[in-house]
Parts: sequence; C-alpha cells; structure tokens
Amino acid sequence: MGRPACLAQSPQLPKQMAICADFDRVFEIGPVFRAENSYTHRHMCEFTGLDFEMAIFEHYFEVLDVIDALFLHIFNGLTTRCARDLAFIAAQYPFEPIVAKPTRITFAEGIKLLQENGYPDVDPLEDLNTELERRLGALVKERYGTDYYILYRFPQKIRPFYTMPCPDDPDYSNSFDVFIRGEEIISGAQRIHDPELLVERATACGVDVESIKAYVDSFRAGAPPHGGCGVGLERVVMLYAGLNNIRKTAMFPRDPKRLEP
Ligand code: ATP
Repeated sequence: MGRPACLAQSPQLPKQMAICADFDRVFEIGPVFRAENSYTHRHMCEFTGLDFEMAIFEHYFEVLDVIDALFLHIFNGLTTRCARDLAFIAAQYPFEPIVAKPTRITFAEGIKLLQENGYPDVDPLEDLNTELERRLGALVKERYGTDYYILYRFPQKIRPFYTMPCPDDPDYSNSFDVFIRGEEIISGAQRIHDPELLVERATACGVDVESIKAYVDSFRAGAPPHGGCGVGLERVVMLYAGLNNIRKTAMFPRDPKRLEP
C-alpha cells in the first residue's frame, strides 16, 4: 500500500481485541524478538513469551489471583514431577530451592523498605534499577520469608499509556510486576477499556493517536474491564533454578553477539 509498516512483536493488542470480541480469557505462548538492551545476564534477543488477558469483574486483583494460583501450581508441579531434572541442574549449578508464599506489596511500600534500609534517596516515582530490585528482593525475603512476590500500584508515568490509572490517585496505576529472587519475571496491568480515556492518556504520553486508531476503535463497540500480563519463560527458569545467566536456559540462546547457528 506504499505505507511504512512494522512487524508487531507483542500480542498485547490482539489479546485485547479478543477480549473486546467477548472471549473471557485468552492466552498466547510464542517467540518474542527484542533488539533492546540484550547485553545483560537476563535479556536475550529471542525468548518465549507467555501472555494472557482476562475480563475483570470487580477488581484487577482477579488477575493477580490467577497468577498466584498458576505459579504455585507450576512450582508444585516442578518439585513433584520434575525432581530428577532439578537434581541434574543442581548437580552442575547448586541452588537453594525457592520459597513461594503469595505476597503482595505496593510499590510505595517497596520504596519505603528501601529508604529505611540504606537507600534514603530512592525516588518514589521512578522505576527501580536492577540493583535496587535485587536489594528489595532480599529485604522482602527477610521480612516476609518469600522469594516470590508481587509489587503493585506502580507510578503511572513509568507504565505504558494504555495502563489503567488508580481510581483513587491518577499518579499511580493498576499495574504490577512479579519477582523471583528480586528479579522481574512478569509485567502486567489492568488496561484502559474506555476509548476516550485511552486517547487522553496516549496524548498525555506523546503517542500519535492517529497511529493507534485501529486499536482505539476496537474499544468503541464496548469492552469489558480487563487486564493481563506477559511472562518471560526463560527468566522463570533462570530464577527458579538460581542460574546466573539466562543463556543457560536456552539451547541456542540468541543474543546480539551470536551469529551462528
Ligand atoms: P525488563 O525491565 O527486565 O527489561 P520489560 O519491562 O521490558 O523487562 P516486558 O516488556 O514487560 O518486560 O516483558 C514481560 C516479561 O518478558 C518480562 O517480565 C520478562 O520476564 C520477559 N522479558 C522481557 N524482555 C526480555 C528479554 N530481552 N529476554 C528475556 N526475557 C525478557
């Protein structure tokens, strides 16, 4: 058609469109390709994304409830059904089994915990860097005795434009990240389902509204409140097994330096 085009790499918008089409709950498992920031121990250029989206009836914690139940089921299944495989990993890379007690703390509580424990200058409205996330993970372990927890109610300005603002304070959002051993495995949120609010937020965030017209229009015939998340499979494996590099979780890890195979 003679127009510039890009190959969308996220199932985010299609998932939401499926919810608008009255699918109550949808998921996708597939490869994700990322060019950004892949020189760290936890980023690859290609990973397996587990995504789901669901209608919300009363509160976005319904999404968190599904995540907690899913991950407890996965952890339980790993210990009961995969003990032999875990022993193989532990023989080569010994690790402490994770302790997973579903725990939810607000971003503000997390910041306070950091401020009281050696980081008095942490900005309460900025995202945490890797060092702070790890430190927070250690503090949460100390206080709540768990390696798995959910941090929620992130500042609105550090989340994507389509994230639902908190009803009681628009500086915060109905969003969350899930952590294992102080590193992120999941990012998610309630999404804005009102087209007018979506346009307002996109404009405020400097997004060209014309470029997302099809997305916004998909909510115009009515959409239920909904939310969901994206999980990085190799991150989960790396952190569950206490590995120090995500490349150890993939047979042919793709990173910016691997040209072959
Ligand atoms: P990070 O802050 O760690 O870069 P992100 O906020 O960019 O992650 P999302 O775009 O929300 O992450 O993706 C959802 C999940 O996908 C992340 O929580 C993580 O588990 C996984 N993920 C994201 N980028 C990568 C990557 N380059 N390699 C492996 N897994 C990834």
